[in-house]
Amino acid sequence: MNWLIKNCNKCEHKFAHLPNEKWKTVCPICYKAERGYSLTTSDHSLKKLQQIVTDQTKKMEENEKRKGNQEQMREFSIRLSKLEKMNTRLQVALHLKSREIKDLTLIRIDLERQLASRIRRRVVSSASIPRGMWKTLAFLCHPDRNPTNPDKAQDALTWLTDQQPHK
Ligand SMILES: [Zn+2]
Repeated sequence: MNWLIKNCNKCEHKFAHLPNEKWKTVCPICYKAERGYSLTTSDHSLKKLQQIVTDQTKKMEENEKRKGNQEQMREFSIRLSKLEKMNTRLQVALHLKSREIKDLTLIRIDLERQLASRIRRRVVSSASIPRGMWKTLAFLCHPDRNPTNPDKAQDALTWLTDQQPHK
């Protein structure tokens, strides 16, 4: 016999019915109770079995849920370990980049030093007009000797004075 299983609309326990009894919506126990029929020993036995089936079903559902949770936890821990690996790789990259920055800073400092020393050398070379020549130039640039261009002579003398070789 091909029994079908259905949930009772009243007590929600499972009950079995035959294919030609699809109209049944409540279990035999609820059916009798609704009509005030007294329950037999086999009815009580069925009621007990209904309770056991319901409890087992609930337990199975909880197990499924727990398994689902464990599966989720496993997925989370896989994702977490992937993120940790990525973090490690990023830290290595960061370390390399900061070393590059340090190297570039050293190069910049060196270039600045070279530039400064070049500027200093140029100042020194412009200041190193031979003493005798400096005196001659100062003599010739004096405004008293250039009455036609006294302003230009004064400018030249001022500049020349700045370039006076050290005694
Ligand atoms: Zn019922």
